[in-house]
Amino acid sequence: MHDEDFCCAVCLDFFIEPCIIKCGHSFCHLCIESQLNINEKCPLCRAHTGNPIRNRQLESLTMSYVSSRNLSGAYYERMKLNQKKLIHQKKALLIIWTELSDKPGHSTELSNLNIQDEELKSEIRWQVRQQVGVGLEHIGDLETETVTIRLKTSRQ
Ligand SMILES: [Zn+2]
Ligand SMILES: [Zn+2]
Repeated sequence: MHDEDFCCAVCLDFFIEPCIIKCGHSFCHLCIESQLNINEKCPLCRAHTGNPIRNRQLESLTMSYVSSRNLSGAYYERMKLNQKKLIHQKKALLIIWTELSDKPGHSTELSNLNIQDEELKSEIRWQVRQQVGVGLEHIGDLETETVTIRLKTSRQ
């Protein structure tokens, strides 16, 4: 068995909470969720993804492989980090979409979101940037507080 058998094609590192998609390819939960926010295609074969399903067999195989190579410490650190990122990602998306669908004209300024958490704020910027052209657009510099974020299909 080789390292690459247990590596995700997106992050090129050992699978963390691997999920399998319709075409049969597996990726880390965080990696495929991030991909799904951009488009719904498999990063490897471009097939439509469908809903990712937790691949528990691959997860336990990866874990035993990692521990057989004495790499568990770094692996669990990455796992914690990925879980934190996933939570931030979900929070950021939830804030963006609920905020925009509630607002007349479906637009809002970043400063109106009133977020104190810098990490969450940068995740929101990242998500907006990722979804420009897909569902969102912004007016102004995304790095400033006065940037306006809006739904691409906003009706006047
Ligand atoms: Zn990955
Ligand atoms: Zn695929």
